[in-house]
Amino acid sequence: MGVRIGVLALQGDVSEHIDAFRNAVRTFGSERSVVVAPVKKPEEIIDLDALAIPGGESTTISRLIEKNNLFDPLIGFEGGIFATCAGMVVMAASVDDPRVHPLGLMDYKVIRNAFGRQRESFEADIAISGLDRPFHAVFIRAPVAEHPGNGIKVLGSITEGIVALEQGRFMALSFHPELGHDPRLHIRFLKNCKLL
Ligand code: GLN
Repeated sequence: MGVRIGVLALQGDVSEHIDAFRNAVRTFGSERSVVVAPVKKPEEIIDLDALAIPGGESTTISRLIEKNNLFDPLIGFEGGIFATCAGMVVMAASVDDPRVHPLGLMDYKVIRNAFGRQRESFEADIAISGLDRPFHAVFIRAPVAEHPGNGIKVLGSITEGIVALEQGRFMALSFHPELGHDPRLHIRFLKNCKLL
């Protein structure tokens, strides 16, 4: 059976995620056919093996999740979830902004826009647990996580806080691996989900 990956297309950098997953599958190689497509309706996510929740504006994405009746389907989703930046905000157990109604799928607290105005966007080579060399990470008005619960593996931290976390079929990153050309985190996520 082929693998189906969806990218939640409510708002944010959807096409970049689609390209990055396709690139990851091409780079690693797969015996199975892999389809990557945008999704935005409850019935479109049911059959997926994995879903990306992209970067964008978490207050907007949260509002659109509720407007599109996706809150419960996302909580009940049984596939993998790859969440970046605003996606990481939406995955959290709690957020420092009451406008975001997080899914609570991963047990950490998130601080939105944690780097302040001076450092809204920056790039840094960061160590990620399990990767043999640093990952070039692009941060854009990024959140950080704190208070990870039991069962969460912290993959990477910088001075301001935790920027990469993993829990079984879930991965949450405060930076944007879909904007670079390094497929290692997408490949790792797909392997964690046994899709590669
Ligand atoms: N600051 C945004 C938020 O909290 C996230 C920014 C991004 O996804 N690049 O929603």
